Amino acid sequence: NSDLILYVNLELVNKKSDRRYVIKEMLGQGTFGQVAKCWDVETNTYVAVKVIKNQPAFYQQAIMEVSLLSMLNEKFDPDDQHNIVRMLDFFLYQNHLCIAFEMLGHNLYELLKRNSLRGLQLKYVQTFSRQILDALVVMKNAGIIHCDLKPENILITPNVKTAAGVKVIDFGSACMEGKTIYSYIQSRYYRSPEVLLGYPYTTAIDMWSFGCIVAELYIGLPLFPGASEYDVLCRMIEILGGQPPDDLLREAKNTARFFKHVGSIYRSNEAQNAPVSAYRILTGEEVEARESKKPKVGRWYFPRGRLDRLIFTYPWKNLNGENLPETEKTDCLALVDFLRGLVEFDPNKRWSP
Ligand code: ADP
Ligand code: MG
Repeated sequence: NSDLILYVNLELVNKKSDRRYVIKEMLGQGTFGQVAKCWDVETNTYVAVKVIKNQPAFYQQAIMEVSLLSMLNEKFDPDDQHNIVRMLDFFLYQNHLCIAFEMLGHNLYELLKRNSLRGLQLKYVQTFSRQILDALVVMKNAGIIHCDLKPENILITPNVKTAAGVKVIDFGSACMEGKTIYSYIQSRYYRSPEVLLGYPYTTAIDMWSFGCIVAELYIGLPLFPGASEYDVLCRMIEILGGQPPDDLLREAKNTARFFKHVGSIYRSNEAQNAPVSAYRILTGEEVEARESKKPKVGRWYFPRGRLDRLIFTYPWKNLNGENLPETEKTDCLALVDFLRGLVEFDPNKRWSP
């Protein structure tokens, strides 16, 4: 890919780097490989080294990660001010492509778990949201879609004297806007309607995932923890009280997997003023008949209901939303309004960073 390869000096990939990084412990595992905490004997600092599986597809995608991240770091964020992880080095070791990053702290999923999945105080939700948005602005300006935004890929920055901070990591699924190749992207809970339905996608898919993350940080649990893509869509429809717009459903490749064409008569929810649609979501039985297997449906660990109810009744300490102090009620209303702009079915109406 000619534009990108400029940022990767392929000779560097083959340089010998045998004794520089000493592995201390394993930090994480993913589809692409393993991440190790290493001691860098040249700079006397800890670094995180991602060791990519030595298979061509992973190697290719990791070259993309190196290209996009070096472009973001060097050209769009030279002074490290926009909450995007810094890449320090990359090299080939025993046929594995390795990428060295600055060492960061726990990811946001681990943070939520440590907090017993009760969610964070609103002030932290605000701080982290602002910082992630800052990164998303830079990515949008660079024309880069992250494609895998989720709590595991947002890390706490350690040793910040002034305030809590986060950085976006893992550009291992990222791509350039307008040069999208893959259709099966994003982690299921954070997958946007356009990706689920098979419709051309843009940086707006990251804003959907971002909305899911913001909600999760506050309530402590994923917003759409569907056990299948069908289950995710059903949850979106129930929680948001609507469905993807007809224009999208008409054009998208996978619509028939999830929706029945009923011809301009279907109201997607009970509301009087809900727009009439030509599509309705299939019932579980209809999906079973179509795919000859039952769709997987996960447990609802929320009281089922609309987004505003979820925000007002979680975290669990406020099991009864009516007991909320007036200031927190105002904050919750603002949060619901914010989320509505993000988890918006229509990618054209969804808020940009
Ligand atoms: P994958 O593409 O396999 O998901 P990631 O780049 O997301 O790989 O890394 C996997 C996990 O390793 C992350 O979720 C995080 O917990 C840990 N990790 C990755 N990069 C760093 C880093 N710079 N500092 C600390 N931990 C990291
Ligand atoms: Mg990851």
